Order: sequence, then C-alpha cells, then structure tokens
Amino acid sequence: MSSIVEAVLQELEKHDIEKVEAVDMVVGELTFLGEDQLQFAYEIITRDTTLEGSKLNVIPEKIEIKCNSCGYVGPVNYIHNGDHYSHPDLTCPKCGAGVEILKGKSAMVRSLQVVER
Ligand SMILES: [Zn+2]
Repeated sequence: MSSIVEAVLQELEKHDIEKVEAVDMVVGELTFLGEDQLQFAYEIITRDTTLEGSKLNVIPEKIEIKCNSCGYVGPVNYIHNGDHYSHPDLTCPKCGAGVEILKGKSAMVRSLQVVER
C-alpha cells in the first residue's frame, strides 16, 4: 500500500497539480485487503502529502486464472468453511491442475482525478 502511494506521489511531482480529488485503486481479491483496512491505511500514509484529503475509491478485482494443462481461463471455485468463510481454490476447476493467476493478486492505481494549477 505505501509503495503504491509513493509511486503516485512521485508521478504527481512531475506535474503541476493543485490537488488530487480522488484515486481509483484496483485491489485484487488475493491481496486479502479489506476496504476498511485500505481506507484507514490510506488516510495515514497520505497525511501531509499532496494526496491528503483525497478520496480513495476501492475497485475490487476478482480472481482470474489460466490452466496450462487444459487451457481453462476464468474464475476460480471457492472452498466454503462454515457459513461465513470461504477461500479461493487455486487449482483448475475443470481438471484440478495447478494454475497461473492472471488477475486478482495485486493492487494498483488505475486513475486519478486531479485539479491542475
Ligand atoms: Zn485445467
């Protein structure tokens, strides 16, 4: 999270920005970062920076996998433990082989809404 914010700040330094109104961040399901947790961290990390006071829009990204054995591309199955807890099964839903994760494992900034000077 802090490295993402740092990268944004570095980018902002190259431009003449009055202020940043909002940051759209795509957050993969596999990062296991909750919205509340992100908002809280964002507020602390951006304090006394150009991003202070900007709104963080968290855009969740579902997991997408690719199977190198059968060629399946798509979402994963979930293993349910009890009523409220489930976790993604990172094997191919069709053939059970190990898979490559295409989406959902990272967090990144997709766009910024800024006010230029
Ligand atoms: Zn497969």
